[in-house]
Amino acid sequence: MKKLIIISLLCFCSCSNVEVIRPTTELFYSKYPDYVYMESAHFIINAPSDIDLKYYSSLAERFYYNIMMDTNLFSFVPAHPYRIIIHKDKNTFLTRTGSFDWSGGFIKDNIIETYISPTIDSTLAHEITHLILNEFIGENIYFYSWLSEGLATYEERKASSDVDIEYENIFRTKVIPSPYRFTNLISFIPKKETSNDDVKKYYAESSDIIKFMISREGSFKFYIFLDGLKRNLSLDNALKNAYPTSFTSVSTLESIWLRERIGI
Ligand SMILES: [Zn+2]
Repeated sequence: MKKLIIISLLCFCSCSNVEVIRPTTELFYSKYPDYVYMESAHFIINAPSDIDLKYYSSLAERFYYNIMMDTNLFSFVPAHPYRIIIHKDKNTFLTRTGSFDWSGGFIKDNIIETYISPTIDSTLAHEITHLILNEFIGENIYFYSWLSEGLATYEERKASSDVDIEYENIFRTKVIPSPYRFTNLISFIPKKETSNDDVKKYYAESSDIIKFMISREGSFKFYIFLDGLKRNLSLDNALKNAYPTSFTSVSTLESIWLRERIGI
């Protein structure tokens, strides 16, 4: 439970305020001159020298590949490698970033900062998804938080069986008895005053919808859908363009999802 709270709160402070800013691409990062680096195809990892950079570099590339497989975004090439700062522990992270005590990490200036913890795998899978979606779709992504958080949480669930089980429980006990209507889900913006239960339900339902779309209709159509949003199509038109024989509008997607996932 603690894990889920951390991830949810993480998105209060980070995901809703992500800005796509051209990053610095020096291998060493001037903010942390005492940290070493490892560069891979899509990432620069900066961390203290006693951290296994090779492990986290491979992990980040694996999550990147998983996201490509689910979204069919293989034609997309990031303008610059993404930087991931890994602090050695929570105290160091809090001291050096000034973050709130409950934060598990954040994205700022297109850079992920986090720390070694039992949940770092799922945190990285979630935040790397945001970096890719933010860059591919551009500023239009801010209109589609449910999509961004849904895909990020879907990747997070795949990265951690513990997280997946927790969200599956929330889906069974909170979503199935009383799912958010899609109009409410699409306009849902987690705020500080939003209850953690409501946020968890939002993540559980959004990630289930994304999983449903990808598993039922495949990753190529999902790519066409994302590309439509990138090209400024409305949500209804992006759906109709990508799914001409199934999810032809938000209301049709909702009806099919309710019937096949909720049993209504
Ligand atoms: Zn998020």
